[in-house]
Amino acid sequence: MGIPGSGLAKGLAVTLRTMTKRSVTAQYPDAQPELPPRSRGVIALFEENCTVCMLCARECPDWCIYIDSHKETVPAAAPGGRERSRNVLDRFAIDFALCMYCGICIEVCPFDALFWSPEFEYAETDILDLTHERDKLRDWMWTVPPPPPLDPAAEEPKEIAAARKSAEKAAAARAAQEPAPTEPAPAEPAPAEPDASGPDAGSGEGDA
Ligand code: SF4
Ligand code: SF4
Repeated sequence: MGIPGSGLAKGLAVTLRTMTKRSVTAQYPDAQPELPPRSRGVIALFEENCTVCMLCARECPDWCIYIDSHKETVPAAAPGGRERSRNVLDRFAIDFALCMYCGICIEVCPFDALFWSPEFEYAETDILDLTHERDKLRDWMWTVPPPPPLDPAAEEPKEIAAARKSAEKAAAARAAQEPAPTEPAPAEPAPAEPDASGPDAGSGEGDA
């Protein structure tokens, strides 16, 4: 059996110890937490990049991405050309009540249309309200941090190298087609001024 009052003494000792330490409690929501820049808060959609390929919806293990689209015919770009059809996005929604934040949809999207946003304040009181539609996913796009700067020692990406080479080739072809600058023609000699001290200059005086 312990000494009577030892529990109280221990409790007071803990209280005194913690009283002298700085508090680590964040006063959320008055103070926003400092999250790591790549936090997985929510999935944002950059819908201009989405081609409705359905890869994300097919690969999602929870089947919580809902996409609707229709086909549109695009007229031929040149006379005699073929009409083309393209998919137009009608609905893109994610049910965050089912999503397990695995990030597979972001990884598999071949067109960089999905991104992690650090936004986390989208709690709802009704579970049905956790299905967020494309407008909301689009708004979250503006909270996605910019990509980290490239490592200056890194190898040039293949796409950028190819684009740079073709730009250089096009510039060289343009320079070869432009006519060489012509030499300026030599200037004509200016007509000589009549000499004021010539033989006719003093004839008026003699006539007077
Ligand atoms: S993060 Fe995972 S579970 Fe959530 S929508 Fe993407 S693929 Fe589905
Ligand atoms: S994988 Fe990307 S491009 Fe394809 S439907 Fe999903 S978001 Fe759109």
